[in-house]
Amino acid sequence: MDRVIPDLLIWYRQNARDLPWRNTQDPYRIWVSEIILQQTRVEQGKSFYMNFINNFHDFCHIANSPEDSILRVWQGLGYYSRARNMIKTAEIICHDFGGKMPANHKQILSLPGIGAYTAAAIASFAFGLPHAALDGNVRRVGSRFLGLYEVLGSKQSDKIITEYLEQHIPINEAGEFNQALIEIGATVCKPQKPDCHSCPLSKQCVAYQKNTQNELPVVARKKAPVNSYLDYMWLEADGYTWLTKRDNHGIWKGLYEFPSKTRDAETRNFPFEDWIINPEYASILSVKEYKHQLTHRTIYARLWHLSTSLNNIVNKNEFTRIESVSIEAYPVHRLMLKFIEQKETTTHHD
Ligand code: SF4
Repeated sequence: MDRVIPDLLIWYRQNARDLPWRNTQDPYRIWVSEIILQQTRVEQGKSFYMNFINNFHDFCHIANSPEDSILRVWQGLGYYSRARNMIKTAEIICHDFGGKMPANHKQILSLPGIGAYTAAAIASFAFGLPHAALDGNVRRVGSRFLGLYEVLGSKQSDKIITEYLEQHIPINEAGEFNQALIEIGATVCKPQKPDCHSCPLSKQCVAYQKNTQNELPVVARKKAPVNSYLDYMWLEADGYTWLTKRDNHGIWKGLYEFPSKTRDAETRNFPFEDWIINPEYASILSVKEYKHQLTHRTIYARLWHLSTSLNNIVNKNEFTRIESVSIEAYPVHRLMLKFIEQKETTTHHD
């Protein structure tokens, strides 16, 4: 690889996309951007990143803020376990490391929510430490460049690529080297139709030399997503509505949502008999169907929008009663945002 590294670095300096978290060695900003990008696309991540660092300026700022205020800023990004791990990491850094990210790969790797890729990215981008950062892009580039037929992302494939890159990573340019490989994967060595003629690695790329770019990398077959069926109750009574906070298990940990029940795929009956409201005293304003896709799960949600008066509410303590107008102050998941936005759109059009 040594022959193409100078070309790779020149290419990167000339072609790198101008992203808000580039051109900084501030470990806090790099950490925030890397956590956001773990499961969010670059374009979507930009505005969230700016919003996040404008609201929380350093590790101790996060550590000293209420959890709900952080989840509120995180709202819409999904995968809230990332935000919760950020809080834990911020607390550790604030209390045990004097508010500064340790300049040590092993210590970075030990922090919550930081896996092999993120640790190597922070260590190399912020501190110039020579660790290979394997994200999906670098794995694909590495597989093609080395002509690997091991399954993409398998232990064996990761080991070969990591060892190879760490033997060649330029000592004083580790951060730029990693960023350049990520950028090549994102913009040149794409999953379909890699643009090998524009690629600074082509001189030594095995797949290019053997014309096997379209065979590589070898990708494992994906598992079929699981289906879930849920009925949600959006109950409004005299300016109030009801929410429930999800527990700390399963998806959407600790976020608020309308009360819900699981159902069978085909069930269409009113699902909230004797639950919080006697159905005889409620008007059904609308019933809408939503399909919401998570990575390994498809949720088929039905939203029952109901209206009644406070006198008709039973089981008063089962859920949290809030004023309808204050709903935006609560951290909610993306499916809830769809529910709420729909109401806003409907109201507007009416
Ligand atoms: S030469 Fe082609 S296959 Fe090889 S790394 Fe570059 S874009 Fe990918």
